[in-house]
Amino acid sequence: MIILKTEKEIAAMREAGKRHADILQRVALLVKPGITTAELDVAAEKMIKEYGDLPAFKGYTPDGAKTPYPATLITSVNEEVVHGIPSKKRKLQEGDIIALDLGIRHEGVFTDAAITVPVGKISKELNDLLMVTEEALYVGIDAVKPGATVGDIGFAIQSFVNKRFSIVEGFSGHGVGRHIHEDPYIPNYGKSGQGEKLVPGMTIAIEPMLNVGTKYVKILPDGYTVATKDGKPSAHFEHTVLVTETGCEILTKI
Ligand code: MG
Repeated sequence: MIILKTEKEIAAMREAGKRHADILQRVALLVKPGITTAELDVAAEKMIKEYGDLPAFKGYTPDGAKTPYPATLITSVNEEVVHGIPSKKRKLQEGDIIALDLGIRHEGVFTDAAITVPVGKISKELNDLLMVTEEALYVGIDAVKPGATVGDIGFAIQSFVNKRFSIVEGFSGHGVGRHIHEDPYIPNYGKSGQGEKLVPGMTIAIEPMLNVGTKYVKILPDGYTVATKDGKPSAHFEHTVLVTETGCEILTKI
């Protein structure tokens, strides 16, 4: 069921989104060779608590998972696509890329957003991957307006990516707001005109995931981390977006 948000919920999500963007930017500034993904997780949780908010992913058991997610931040390095678990053993190295994915609970509402950032100097191929994935997110957001469908978002992303990188299948964007994951499903590829119609008051997370190599992914033995099947790198960008009367508003920005 798609939940349209009240004015009060939207106002709370707008504030949550500002805080969210601030925290993601500050965690990104900590990314450098030698830091562990666990240290980034600790920093993110501290920032959320300083705001008086709660991490949304910690303790949350998504569909299909056997155990609750154990951390605040999701850290997916290089060939890890999404859902990487922070670890004291995972030290970042020059030339890596890391996706930082965060969910925040503020006054009973949720926002969801992610960025992928370089660790020191990265290759041109990785730089292209980050730029195209981020731009794919904004192209998807541009397709959001009342009367458009979720398929229009997927179609816009797929058309823009145009086989330069492969689009991960089996993972997608989603409604967000009253829950961290709610209806509808927001595809990263597909046909225009298909799926649910967008209506003012809907709040959705759009999150393209692009791979340098194959589109196929596997789940690692920890039961959470999704990695590319061929071990080649992957990037992920995400915003929480409100459908407005005239188009849309990105909520997870400053
Ligand atoms: Mg999400």
